[in-house]
Amino acid sequence: MNRALFLDRDGVINKDVSYPHKPEQIVFVEGIFDLCRKAADRGYLLVVITNQAGIAKGYFSETDVENLHKWMGYKFKEHGLKISAFYFCPFHPEGVVEKYRKKSDCRKPSPGMFIKAAQDLNIDLKRSLMVGDKMSDRINLPELKCIIIKSRYTDKNYDVETLSDIEKFL
Ligand SMILES: [Mg+2]
Repeated sequence: MNRALFLDRDGVINKDVSYPHKPEQIVFVEGIFDLCRKAADRGYLLVVITNQAGIAKGYFSETDVENLHKWMGYKFKEHGLKISAFYFCPFHPEGVVEKYRKKSDCRKPSPGMFIKAAQDLNIDLKRSLMVGDKMSDRINLPELKCIIIKSRYTDKNYDVETLSDIEKFL
């Protein structure tokens, strides 16, 4: 079985400017490529798992997100890194786009996307790691270790200050 480094997107891979959905809005967080390289060298698959409520809120479309993820995949490739998969949740209970207005078990902290990823990529969640920057990145899956980086959302409830502090957990 594989192990994975699960990465939240906004605030972990790229800076969390409000609802980024185009390449020109993406500024990569310092240290993200280094962390991913170390993880890949130690045999972790890299998997991105992101809530994208901006779709339910009508700010952008699923196609925008898919195109952005394609572009991000190329950027990682330029650094010699492979993102095995991107998963995003377009739903939000208070969305304005009816199609996406619902409570979904894929919306973090619910574990739906992690369970799907584990099936798709044969991942052992017990030997994997999740990195996020919000309380909702503490996934409701007791067997998955989640590490929260300090951010404007975390108050005192964070585990590490920067991405480089995560290496010791790999
Ligand atoms: Mg985030």
